[in-house]
Amino acid sequence: MVDRLVNSEANARRIAMVESCFGSSGQQLAEQGRVLVGEGVLTKMCRKKPKARQFFLFNDILVYGNIVINKKKYNKQHVIPLEEVKLESLKDEGQYRNGWLIRTASKSFAVYAATATEKEEWMAHIEKCIEDLLRKSGKQPPSEHAAVWVPDNEAAICMHCKKTQFTVLNRRHHCRKCGSVVCGPCSSKRFLLPGQSDKPLRVCLQCYDMLNRERARPPQTAQTPGQGAAKVLDTTGSGGESSQDDDSDDEDERAADQSHDEPKFYGDGEKTEDTNNHSSKDQASK
Ligand SMILES: [Zn+2]
Ligand SMILES: [Zn+2]
Repeated sequence: MVDRLVNSEANARRIAMVESCFGSSGQQLAEQGRVLVGEGVLTKMCRKKPKARQFFLFNDILVYGNIVINKKKYNKQHVIPLEEVKLESLKDEGQYRNGWLIRTASKSFAVYAATATEKEEWMAHIEKCIEDLLRKSGKQPPSEHAAVWVPDNEAAICMHCKKTQFTVLNRRHHCRKCGSVVCGPCSSKRFLLPGQSDKPLRVCLQCYDMLNRERARPPQTAQTPGQGAAKVLDTTGSGGESSQDDDSDDEDERAADQSHDEPKFYGDGEKTEDTNNHSSKDQASK
């Protein structure tokens, strides 16, 4: 079905619309062979709390951004190549329902759909795109994925020493290997995690020991081939990147329009590509 959409005018128009909603805050999205498969609002788990984000699924990338004005203006665009993505369904837990993980080598996070059906639709469409991509490219999906960060409010005390209470002065930090919320002394070490950065990153003491043991093992178990011999840096007390500790898209912006719109997926199970999307504008421009 996607192939039928590749050269369609409707597809080009939709992509132009996404570009214009991001304006100068986004990159060019129109590209030969790229198809907008679907779009909708998902709740993304951020460092402090879950937040509504607008998602656009293309056949080769997943794009999301903050909602400035619902359906009109988005910013803080993130583009994730689908080749690197692995999905993992999450069990419903309290208020967190219909969720799944979007995992890549450099960043992993949880998103939640409004209903179980929407979750199913999203996951199926994303999986299908990934499958098609990998089949075409012959590539293997990445085996290593960045940790999913434990949200700040789920840890009142350090998850490593189980002693330090977090306060304004005793700030929370995240281990980049396991995603735990840990105190400063329990995350004083840095380790090179090539999938996430070319600079050594904050890790908890437990991961630091584990990574060092892994590194000491014979090379056939090493997961990063080539020159990526992991470097150990002991940067205890050396300023470091602690100010970079915040999730970049985590600022508190005005609450977006919370009215729920169902996600739209284009071109599945229909005779003509546009029957799924009867907006008055689409009709008028035909
Ligand atoms: Zn601690
Ligand atoms: Zn850790």
